Amino acid sequence: MKYYSAAHIHDGRDWVADPELVLAFDEDNIFTGYVSRSGLEPDQVQELDGILCPGFVNAHCHLELSHTKGMIPEHTGLVTFLGKVVFNRAADEQSKLHAIEIAMAALEASGCIAVGDIANTEDLLHLRLQGNMHVHTFVETMGFIPQTATQRMAFPEQVHRSYAAQTSHPKGYVLRQSIVPHAPYSVSDKLFELIDDFEPGSLLSIHNEETPAENQYFIEKTGEMKELYKTLNIDDTYFQPSGKTSLQTYLPYIKQPHDLLLVHNTCITNEDLAYLDQYNGNVSLCLCPNANWYIERALPDIPAMMASGHNICLGTDSLASNHDLNIYGEIQKIKEHYPQIALSELLSWATMGGARALQLDHIIGSFEPGKRPGLVQIHEEVSKRIM
Ligand SMILES: [Zn+2]
Repeated sequence: MKYYSAAHIHDGRDWVADPELVLAFDEDNIFTGYVSRSGLEPDQVQELDGILCPGFVNAHCHLELSHTKGMIPEHTGLVTFLGKVVFNRAADEQSKLHAIEIAMAALEASGCIAVGDIANTEDLLHLRLQGNMHVHTFVETMGFIPQTATQRMAFPEQVHRSYAAQTSHPKGYVLRQSIVPHAPYSVSDKLFELIDDFEPGSLLSIHNEETPAENQYFIEKTGEMKELYKTLNIDDTYFQPSGKTSLQTYLPYIKQPHDLLLVHNTCITNEDLAYLDQYNGNVSLCLCPNANWYIERALPDIPAMMASGHNICLGTDSLASNHDLNIYGEIQKIKEHYPQIALSELLSWATMGGARALQLDHIIGSFEPGKRPGLVQIHEEVSKRIM
């Protein structure tokens, strides 16, 4: 058995009130329960400084963009940013894979035990077997012209097949995959339909309401997004503005029961949050504050999301729009802008909230007997995964 203690223990939902309690893990890192310090010899317990909590979940990342670190300037706005990501995607295979390996190591070292990773390629296929974390690969689709929808599904289906062929991880971590829409403005209603039918019940993720231009386009078909299509030579004449936000326009396209991970939500409205109550599945709201700040110099209305009662989790997005892939860095960013939100709440989003969002809460996210939740130490504003 292994016993750990610290001045503050967070169990994934809240602080552990009794300072006498020590965390007990078996040799396979399975949490067996809390033990009273009085029943143990002092040298049996590893006393650590700071805070202990379960492993972090990074619910939204793009590891395959790791080579773009530092390439895109800050505060360009999303529309310009997207153009630059497309331009910077190309790189030689070796340096791309090397950048991913470094990013995965940093992710793990800073506390992560599970990642929701967006994939447009098979770059992570072998690397996810080497990591020490659960991986849900979200294979992304894009295509705003309805006529090309079937054609646009072909490559993601092939990528999905390759990931799905990996049935197990050598160290027992969970590996999953699902096909998902990139964003409301890059996926036609027809492509939404194909994604919806591809695997009923699969976990969907989507970049949601990341920029004001997105809702402006859906409501009245004007603004920067309209200009972007013109620049990219995309003929959007078929598209009729719905007079509604993007979320309220595309949500009815999803008819099968899918749990949903809405990422960013920088411009989500109170009406949208209320609209989500009628959705036929669990909804998680993923915050990526450092990326929002990097691209738009804006943060979502987090108190409104909290008031909505939906599950909240955290993500880093990619190194194209973040200085590192560190969930504790996201917590610090939220604290800076919303000092009224308690650290206990933020830690629960980083752990249990993320585990729920990635449908992994039966094995990670909290200190509950039988789970293998990992262990993170936070000391002097630095987080470290120690199990
Ligand atoms: Zn993203």
